[in-house]
Amino acid sequence: MTDDAHVHLEASLRLQRERTGSDAGEQVLQSLLTDLFTESARSGADRVRLRYNPSRWASRGVDRDAQLAVLRRAADEAARDHGVRLDVYATLKRESGERELRENVETALAGAAVAFRGIDVSRSYDVTDSGSRPVPAPLTRGLLGLVREATDRGLEAAAHLGWYDDADDLGPLLAAGVRRIGHGSPLVDRVEWDARLADVHATVEVCPTAFVRRSGRPVRDVPVERWLDAGIRVDVGTDHPLALRTDLAEEVRRMTLAHPAWVPVPAGPRTSPAASA
Ligand SMILES: [Zn+2]
Repeated sequence: MTDDAHVHLEASLRLQRERTGSDAGEQVLQSLLTDLFTESARSGADRVRLRYNPSRWASRGVDRDAQLAVLRRAADEAARDHGVRLDVYATLKRESGERELRENVETALAGAAVAFRGIDVSRSYDVTDSGSRPVPAPLTRGLLGLVREATDRGLEAAAHLGWYDDADDLGPLLAAGVRRIGHGSPLVDRVEWDARLADVHATVEVCPTAFVRRSGRPVRDVPVERWLDAGIRVDVGTDHPLALRTDLAEEVRRMTLAHPAWVPVPAGPRTSPAASA
C-alpha cells in the first residue's frame, strides 16, 4: 500500500465526457471521484493526493459550497469503502487571473477540515498530446505572495516543475513555502539544487510513465538515488492515469525496477495540514 502522490481529475473527466456527453454537475464530479477511489484502491493506493481545480467546477455550474459538500462525502466514502485517504490540492494555474487564484486559495482554506490539504501551482496543457505546450506564464509576485499567504495560513504548497518549466523557478517557489515538487524534470540534471531541496525537507513527486512519455528518457535517468542520498523525499504519482493508460501498481513497478533503493511509504494516520506543517 502506498501514496499516489500526484494525480489529476481532469483527464478522467475528458474520458467520462466521451462516454456521457456531459461534463457538468455535481453528479459527474461525484462519479469521477468514486471512479478514482475504486481504481486507486484496486491498484494499491491508501492515499491519493488529488489535484483539483475549484474554479473549473464553479464554471461547470457546481458552486464552491456544493463542491465542498461533494468532497466531504467523497472523503468519507474513500475512507469507509476503499480504505483510501483523500488529500486535495487546489490547483493555482499560473495563467489565471488574480481573482480566480484567490478564490481557489479561499476554497482550499474553507475545505481544510473537509478534504483539502493544500494548493498546487501549475500551468495548463494537454497531457494526451505530446506536441502540446503550456501557455507561457511567468511566476508573478502576486501568485508567489498568495502561495506564501496560503502556507502561512496552514496549507501545504506543491508546484509543478515539469518539462516546460524552468529550474530557476525553484528558488522563488521554495522561498514562498512550496515543499512538494511535481515531476521535477528540470532538476534531473541540476545537482546544484539538491542541498536546497533537502534543507527544506522537500518531496519530489516522480510520475514514471509521464516522465518517459514527455522526456523520451528512461525511468533510470530520474536521479532517485542521488535525491534520496541528499535527504530529499521521493514519492510516486500516476499524474493522468487514464490518459497515460497506467495505474499506481504499474508506476510503483516501473519505479522499483529502475530504482531498487526506492521503497514506497504507507500513508499513515490523517493529520490536519496545520498540525503537520
Ligand atoms: Zn501533474
